[in-house]
Amino acid sequence: MGSVDALVIGGGFFGCEIAVELRRLGFARVMLCEREAGLLRRASYVNQARVHNGYHYPRSLSTAERSRANFERFVADYGFAVRTDMVKLYAIAATSRVNAGQFASFCGKIGVLCREAPAALARLFDPDLIEAAFLTRELAFDAVALARSAAQRLADVHVDVRLGTPVRVEPIAAPARPVRVTLPSETIEAGLVVNCTYAALDDVGIPVKARLKRELAEMLLIPPPRDIADVGITVMDGPFFSTMPFPAAKLHSLSHVRYTPHEAWTEPGHGNALPTRSNAMAMLRDAARFLPVLAKVEPVRSIFEIKTVLLRNEDDDGRPILAETCVASPRILSVMGSKIDNIYDVLEMLRAHQWKESA
Ligand SMILES: Cc1cc2nc3c(=O)[nH]c(=O)nc-3n(C[C@H](O)[C@H](O)[C@H](O)COP(=O)(O)OP(=O)(O)OC[C@H]3O[C@@H](n4cnc5c(N)ncnc54)[C@H](O)[C@@H]3O)c2cc1C
Repeated sequence: MGSVDALVIGGGFFGCEIAVELRRLGFARVMLCEREAGLLRRASYVNQARVHNGYHYPRSLSTAERSRANFERFVADYGFAVRTDMVKLYAIAATSRVNAGQFASFCGKIGVLCREAPAALARLFDPDLIEAAFLTRELAFDAVALARSAAQRLADVHVDVRLGTPVRVEPIAAPARPVRVTLPSETIEAGLVVNCTYAALDDVGIPVKARLKRELAEMLLIPPPRDIADVGITVMDGPFFSTMPFPAAKLHSLSHVRYTPHEAWTEPGHGNALPTRSNAMAMLRDAARFLPVLAKVEPVRSIFEIKTVLLRNEDDDGRPILAETCVASPRILSVMGSKIDNIYDVLEMLRAHQWKESA
């Protein structure tokens, strides 16, 4: 039977970064297994590509402040994959849960740019439905560029990357012993297992205590009308929408608070997670009421993913990291980053972790 010092399950953004970090921390033989045919093909690709800077979280000051703290660092470290030549507007709907004054004062509190949008951009909105539009600083990342760089860095530090390799962790017989893991063609023992499978977190044979909420999410890809080719727009705060550059496909994404989620569930597993319909036209129709330039847009395609969040943050939209040591074995850690810029919080957690049980 083969063995490794550390096995990372899941080749999304977090699994890749964690595997590289484990090498830095001294784990000699690190293997990363991803069941898809390439890296960053699931949630790390199917998302709104927003490098958060706090604006999105007026109801969770702690998440807003963490995003604020990590934003510049992310842009500096992953600049090759961040679209910086874009403008970002936050527009406050007339029926928003926060009004324009409250939003501006929240931005002041977390120390982010929030200036009245220039008239040429403010004119994009229906004035009866939008109370105010603000110029802000928020950017979009390119998941394909992140995947390319991750593959290179994993190779540079000699992580053994296995694509097309679904993993199952076998029941824990003795907590102190290495963890036995089944791959399609072999069984191996791992001194440490880091479970970075996001939507499959409790579906790889590792029990997870935290309660998760899953939501089948539809993200629509559209060709941006010329007026917003370099503009991202988020309408706050309630059942509204965001359209952002989606650099990985050179299109814009469109998500809608009411129409992006198809169904949600809190019990473990995948539920009925295959899309049976598309809400594309409903998203576009509603968004075009606020932003009339969307009225003539022809959708390109929808992409779907199971969005996974901690149930305890359902009301405040907070997005802290999850890092949970398995009750059955100190050699198993489940990690969920929740949003891309949380990578720094995850790496900090790994550096502070007591590794003596597993190294
Ligand atoms: C609709 C949507 C919109 C979002 N918008 C944003 C946003 O704008 N900004 C932001 O920062 N974050 C956003 N997020 C959150 C962000 O996408 C995730 O936090 C991040 O991508 C999670 O990365 P990950 O590596 O944990 O997960 P993933 O990228 O999903 O990686 C997990 C990997 O595990 C693999 N896997 C699963 N089971 C197994 C197994 N048994 N064996 C081997 N491999 C397995 C999967 O194939 C997958 O590749 C959004 C998420 C969604 C779904």
